[in-house]
Amino acid sequence: SLENARLYTDLDEERSRLQAVIKQVPAGLIIAEAPSGRFLVANDKAREVLRQSLLSAGSVAEYAQYLGFHPDGRSYTSEEWPLARALQSGETVSAEEIEMLWADGAQGWLSASAAPIRDAQGRLTAAVIVFQDITERKRREEALQASEERFSKAFKNNPTPMAVIRSQDWTFVDANERFLRLLGYTASEIHGHYAIELGTWFMALLDEGGKRLAAGEPFRDEEFTASAKSREPKALLASIETMLIGADTCYLATFVDVTERKQVEEQLRQSQKMEAVGSLAGGIAHDFNNLLTAINGYCELALMGKKATSRDFKYLRAIRSSGERAAGLTRQLLAFSRKEILTTQVLGLNAIVAEMEDMLRRLIEENVEIKTRLDPEAGSVKVDKGQIVQILMNLVVNARDAMPGGGRILVETGKVHLEKPAPDTLLETTPGTYAVLTVTDTGTGMTAEVKAKIFEPFFTTKTVGRGTGLGLSVVYGVVSQLGGGIDLQTEPGRGTTFRIYLPQAGEEAREEAREEAREEVPDATEREYPESCRGNETILVVEDENTIRKFIRLALTTQGYRVLDARNGVEAMRLLAQAGQQINLVMTDLIMPDMGGRELAEQIRAHRPGLPLLYTSGYSKDLENLRETLAKSEYFLSKPFGPVDLARKVREILGPTR
Ligand code: ADP
Ligand code: MG
Repeated sequence: SLENARLYTDLDEERSRLQAVIKQVPAGLIIAEAPSGRFLVANDKAREVLRQSLLSAGSVAEYAQYLGFHPDGRSYTSEEWPLARALQSGETVSAEEIEMLWADGAQGWLSASAAPIRDAQGRLTAAVIVFQDITERKRREEALQASEERFSKAFKNNPTPMAVIRSQDWTFVDANERFLRLLGYTASEIHGHYAIELGTWFMALLDEGGKRLAAGEPFRDEEFTASAKSREPKALLASIETMLIGADTCYLATFVDVTERKQVEEQLRQSQKMEAVGSLAGGIAHDFNNLLTAINGYCELALMGKKATSRDFKYLRAIRSSGERAAGLTRQLLAFSRKEILTTQVLGLNAIVAEMEDMLRRLIEENVEIKTRLDPEAGSVKVDKGQIVQILMNLVVNARDAMPGGGRILVETGKVHLEKPAPDTLLETTPGTYAVLTVTDTGTGMTAEVKAKIFEPFFTTKTVGRGTGLGLSVVYGVVSQLGGGIDLQTEPGRGTTFRIYLPQAGEEAREEAREEAREEVPDATEREYPESCRGNETILVVEDENTIRKFIRLALTTQGYRVLDARNGVEAMRLLAQAGQQINLVMTDLIMPDMGGRELAEQIRAHRPGLPLLYTSGYSKDLENLRETLAKSEYFLSKPFGPVDLARKVREILGPTR
C-alpha cells in the first residue's frame, strides 16, 4: 500500500504537471472524449481564441456557433473540423489554416493541429486539438504580398534597365521593359532563358560579378561592352546585387547605357589624335620646307648657268620638277596641319580653274573625259591659289578613282546668292554671294555609310598605297578656313557631285584681281633674273640653317649684292655694330633658337630705326598675327623660295636700282 500510495502521488504529481503545461502552452488546447465529443480539458488560451462563451456547452457540437472556410470558400461542415476528424476517424491534422467568421462578425484566421489519443489497447479514447490565432501573421503576409506587387511594379516600369537572374543556374527570373528595349529582346525571349543565350558578355559579367560579391566586395558601375540582339555593341555600366526571392539567391543586375557618351568621347579622342598628327606633320613639313628651299634654290641657280640644249639642263629640270612636286606635298601637309603660310589674294575663280585644266587632264586616264564649264558670273574669291588647287585636285583625283572603267568628269563654276544658310551643306554658310565650284562624276557613287565618313582624316575605301584618306579632310579644312560650304550629292551607281561654296570677293576686289591678272608671271622653266633684280647693296642675312644661309648668300652675291651672314641674333648684332651704316637690308629667319627674328628686329630698331627688315619662315602659328603687325619697313617671304623670288623681293624692298 506504501507502493500504491507512492504511485498515486506520482500520478498526482504527473497530472498537476500536465495541467500546468496545458495551462501555460501559448496555444489553445482542447482534449475531447471519444466518441461523445465532450470536452475533457480546455485551457484559457482556447477560451480566448474561440471566444470563451462558445465553450460553455463543452462539446464539439458547438461548432455551429462560428464559421470556417476552406481555401475555395466553401464552409466547414461539422464533420470537417480538425478535432471532429481526429475523434471520428483517428486522423492527424497538422497546421491546417482556416479562415474564420466569428459569431460577433469578426474575421480572422486559425491554424489548427489535431491528433487522436489511444489507450494501451489502441482504442481511440480521446482527441487533442492545438490551435492558434494567426490573424496577425496572415495580415502581415498579405501586406507583404501587396508590397511585393508594388515593388514588382517599380521594377517593371523602372527607367533603369534591370534583370533578375537566378544565381545557381543563371536563368532569367525577370527583366524589365527598359532592359528588353536596351538589348532588343522580347519578354518571351528572356523569361526562363539562360543568361548565356544573350551572349558571352553576359556570362563574363555574371561570372565576374558573382566572384566579386562572393568575396564580399561590391560590384558597381563596371564598364562592359554588351551586344544587343542586332549585334550592335552597347557600352554599359553594370551593377550587381544579390537578393533572395523565395528560396533562391538571385542577382539583380542594373545597367546604365553609356554608348552615346562613349561615342562622343571617342570623337574627342579622334580629334585630339588628329591635332597631334597635325602638329607632327606640320613640324616635319617645316624642316622639309627648309631642305626644299636649298634643293630647289641650288637647282635653279645651276639651271641658270646651263644651255637649254645640254644634258645637265634636262637632268636639273627633272630634279627641279620633282622638287616642286615635293613642295606641293609640303603644302598639303601644312594645309592639313593648318599651319600653312597663306598668301591670300583676290583671284578670279574661272582663271584658276582654266589655268589648272591641263594639269587636271594629266591626272586622269584616257578612258576618262574631263570637261569644264565656266560661268563668267562666278566672280572672284579671296584665297591662296594653292587652296583652290588643292580642292580641285583632290576632287578630280577622287572622281577619277571612282571611275576605274572610265566615265566623265565635269568641272563647273557658277554663282549663287544665299538669303539664308544653305540647307544641306556641311559647314555653316552665312547669307551672301558665293562662287560655286562643282565637280561631277559618273562614277560608283557612295553608300550612306561611306558618305557619312568621307571627311574624316584617314578614312579611305581604297587599297594601301592608293588612298590616304586625307584628300577630303584637306578639302574640308580649306573650305572651312575660307568660310565656305560643301554640298554633296551621291548615290551608289549614280555618280557623285561635290559643290563647293566659296564667299565671293566684293566688287572693288574684283578690279584688283583684273589688275593682277594683267601681270604676266613667266613660266618657271624660263625664269631668269631680269636685269632689274640685280643690285650692289649690302644685305645682312641671319639664318640658323647652314644650307639655307649659304644658298641665300650665293643667290644674292650672284646678283651683285654684298652679303654679311650671321648664324644667330648675337652675331647679327655684332656685325651690325661693326659694319653699321653700310647695311641696307636685314634678312632674318623668324624662328631661331636663342633669339627669334622679332626680338632681333627690336634690338636693331633701337640702333637703326628705319632699316628695312625681311622676315622669312616656313611656318609659324603666329604668322597670321605677324602679317597684321608688320611695320612700315618690314616685309615677309615664305619658304621655300627660289633665287628669283628672293631677288625680286629684295628689289621690291630696296626700290629700283640707281
Ligand atoms: P582617299 O581618296 O585617299 O581615299 P579621300 O579623303 O579623298 O581619301 O576620300 C575618302 C573616301 O571618300 C574615298 O576612299 C572614297 O571611298 C570616297 N569618295 C570620295 N570621292 C568620291 C567620289 N567622287 N566617288 C565615290 N567615292 C568617293
Ligand atoms: Mg582622295
